[in-house]
Amino acid sequence: MSRAQAAGIRYVLMDIDDTITRRGKLLASSYAALWKLKEAGFRVIPVTGRPAGWCDCIAREWPVDAVIGENGALAFWEEDAPKSAVNPDAERLPALRAMYHPNAARNDHPVLARIRGRAFAETPGLRDAKDQFARLFDIALDFAEEEPVLPLSAAERVRAIAEEEGARAKVSSIHVNIWMGNYDKLTMTDLFLREYFGWKGDSTEIMFVGDSPNDEPMFTCFPLTCAVANIRRYEGFIKNFPAFAAEAEYGEGFAEIVRVLLKKSAGTARS
Ligand SMILES: [Mg+2]
Repeated sequence: MSRAQAAGIRYVLMDIDDTITRRGKLLASSYAALWKLKEAGFRVIPVTGRPAGWCDCIAREWPVDAVIGENGALAFWEEDAPKSAVNPDAERLPALRAMYHPNAARNDHPVLARIRGRAFAETPGLRDAKDQFARLFDIALDFAEEEPVLPLSAAERVRAIAEEEGARAKVSSIHVNIWMGNYDKLTMTDLFLREYFGWKGDSTEIMFVGDSPNDEPMFTCFPLTCAVANIRRYEGFIKNFPAFAAEAEYGEGFAEIVRVLLKKSAGTARS
């Protein structure tokens, strides 16, 4: 990545699982990297398949400007509340705001129940993700977050079943996420950045970091996409690889990418 490319970046978007985490844990190095990005004036926005319930926590607790969750069904962010009429001198606390993709349908859809039944019948060992209770729009079937870890080919078969039944599905490093409604990480990112940040569609302002097939729509669209080194396990499962890859894996790879970005963009003013 050239210095001119790095200097043009305004938004840093990242996947969460196996991109800033390792074995499910958020690393000290990658969490510190999020703070450094924020302090350097970048807009920091995780884009994840994780549920609405997690996104509430992330938007309120992490050093981020917003979070896009459930593979693009929703975006949560904090906004300064207007001055209180009751107590105008009190310190104003931020309020949580939400935007839902106009095509998002709730996950009690009968087609999703049918897909889940077929997927379980045809894939021994597959189970509901344990974060399912926190989801609004998709169902998540666990093949690799816990034991038994099933092969990627099993996850791909579940995705094929879902698509055959008319749903959308993406395979992450841990779950197969399945939903009704035409959207994904990319279409929601486009919609949300335009509506909330007034982004004009200049894809060179965006850097995205990911690790797996559910990040592929992002890799396809943005020229400055990066991956952590563990993406190499998906050779044969991804058609569109990102432009850049870290030497290090998982959250350490993310921290490495942020170090390079901060170094190459040093001295750039951002508002
Ligand atoms: Mg991931």
